Amino acid sequence: MHTMENKTDIAIIGGGIGGVMAALFLSRTLKFNRSRNLYNITIYEKEHAILKGASNELARLHFGGEYPRDPSTAQDCVTGAILFSQIFPSSVYSAITGVDYLVSAKNDDKEELLEKLVHHYETFVKPVCTRFYAQLHNKADFLFGDVATLFRKIEPVELTENFFGGIHSNELGFNSSALNTFLHAKIKEEEIDVKYSVAITDAAKNGDTYILTAKDVLTEKEQNISAGIVVNASWENCLALNYKIKKEVPAIRGYWRALAIADISRCDGANDSKFALIGKSGGMYSPVNDKKAILYVPEYGCSFINDENNECHLFSETNLIMKKPVISDSEIEERKQKIHEHISSLFPFLKNMIIVGLPVNPTFSKDDELHKRAHIKTWEVGKNWFSVFPAKATFAVRAAIELIALMPSVSSEALKGFCIDTHPVVPAIFHLK
Ligand SMILES: Cc1cc2nc3c(=O)[nH]c(=O)nc-3n(C[C@H](O)[C@H](O)[C@H](O)COP(=O)(O)OP(=O)(O)OC[C@H]3O[C@@H](n4cnc5c(N)ncnc54)[C@H](O)[C@@H]3O)c2cc1C
Repeated sequence: MHTMENKTDIAIIGGGIGGVMAALFLSRTLKFNRSRNLYNITIYEKEHAILKGASNELARLHFGGEYPRDPSTAQDCVTGAILFSQIFPSSVYSAITGVDYLVSAKNDDKEELLEKLVHHYETFVKPVCTRFYAQLHNKADFLFGDVATLFRKIEPVELTENFFGGIHSNELGFNSSALNTFLHAKIKEEEIDVKYSVAITDAAKNGDTYILTAKDVLTEKEQNISAGIVVNASWENCLALNYKIKKEVPAIRGYWRALAIADISRCDGANDSKFALIGKSGGMYSPVNDKKAILYVPEYGCSFINDENNECHLFSETNLIMKKPVISDSEIEERKQKIHEHISSLFPFLKNMIIVGLPVNPTFSKDDELHKRAHIKTWEVGKNWFSVFPAKATFAVRAAIELIALMPSVSSEALKGFCIDTHPVVPAIFHLK
C-alpha cells in the first residue's frame, strides 16, 4: 500500500526475536538498495515491550548437543549458531560460557546416547565449524574459540554418580537483558516504528493491500491499518493469522512449556550450563550470570504442561489457536518445587537456589516428538505475506535471511554470493555489531 507520502507500509506482526530480526534485515536490505525512504517499517506488538513472548529469557546459542537422536535438528542448530554469531557483538552473550551435555546414568541406552553425542560433535560440528571458519577468513577465535578446543569428552573423574558421560562444549549463553537493550538501540537506529500494546486480531486482502485489524489492548479500541507487505512473526498466533489469508494449515504441532527462573546468588557452583540428557532423567540448568539461571525439566508436572493423553496441540481448521493453560497458584508452587527438587538432585551445588518465576510459553515442532525441532523455513503464505517461525532463537537470523531471499526484488544484490549451505558468510550489511 502506498501512503500519502507514497511509501509502502511493511507491517511486522510480533516483536519477538523473529519479528525484530525480520524488521532489521528488511531495513538493512532496503538501505543497501537505496530505497529505505520508500518504505515505512512498523512492528505491532501486543505486549508493552518487545521480547516478552518466547524470546523473553533465551538460554543458549547451541550446536545441537541436546539432540543426539535427531541429526537434522542438531545440524540446523550448528548452521543457525554460526549465522547468529557472525552478526551480533559479544555483549549479547552471557559472560558465562560453555555447556556440559551429560548423559544420565539412568538411561537404558546410555552407551548409545553418549556415542551419538560424541559422533555429532566429532563428525558434524567439528568439520562444519572448520569449513565455516575457513570461509570466515580463518578467524578461528572469532566465534566459539579454536575448533581444536571447541569441545572435549568429559572424564569419568569429573562426573557425579548421576551421569554416565558427556561432553563439554564452548557454546555461548545469551544475556537476555543485554540482547534486549541492544536490539532496542538497533530498532531506533534503523528508524523502525514499534506500536506497543497493539494486537493484530484480523486480516484480509484487498487488491494489492492487506487490511489488518489492530486492537489497542489497553482501550480495546480497534482500527484498520493497511500494509503492502506483511511479515507474520506472531509465534503462537502465526497459523491463525496466516489462515485468514490462505486456508491452509501446515503440519506444525504446539506444546506448552514452563521454564523456571532461579536466583542462584546463594549457590557456589560451576559456571557452565549443564544439560542433562534426556527424558525423565533430563533437565537443563543454564546460568545467565552468577545471580540468575534458567531451568527446564522435560517432564509432566514440571516444565511440560499438557497431560500425557494430550501431549501436543494439533492445529486444524477449527483449532488454530493454542489456548494458554490456566494454572492455579498452588500448582505453580508445586511445579516450582518439583523443578527445584529435580534439578538440585542432578546438580547438588544448586540446592540453595530459589525459583522466582515460571513463565509459560508455547513451543513448536514439525514432529510429534518434541526433542525433534528442526528449523521451520520462512514461507510466503500469499503474495507479500510472509511467515517467520523460528522454532529456536538460534534459527532467527536464518529465518530473517530466508525472508529476504523470498523477496527477489529487494534481495538479489544484497544476498549475492551468499548460500546458507555452502557459503554461509553473512553479508556485512547485516552485521549488527
Ligand atoms: C522453555 C523454552 C526454552 C527455550 N530455550 C531456547 C534456547 O536455549 N535457545 C534457543 O535458541 N531457543 C530457545 N527456545 C526457543 C525460543 O524461545 C523461540 O524459538 C523464539 O523465542 C521464538 O521467537 P519468536 O519471535 O518467533 O516468538 P516470540 O518471542 O513469542 O515473539 C512473538 C511476539 O508476537 C507477539 N504477538 C503474538 N500475537 C500477536 C498479535 N496477534 N498481534 C501482535 N503481536 C502479537 C507476542 O507478544 C510476542 O512478543 C526456548 C523456548 C522455550 C519455550
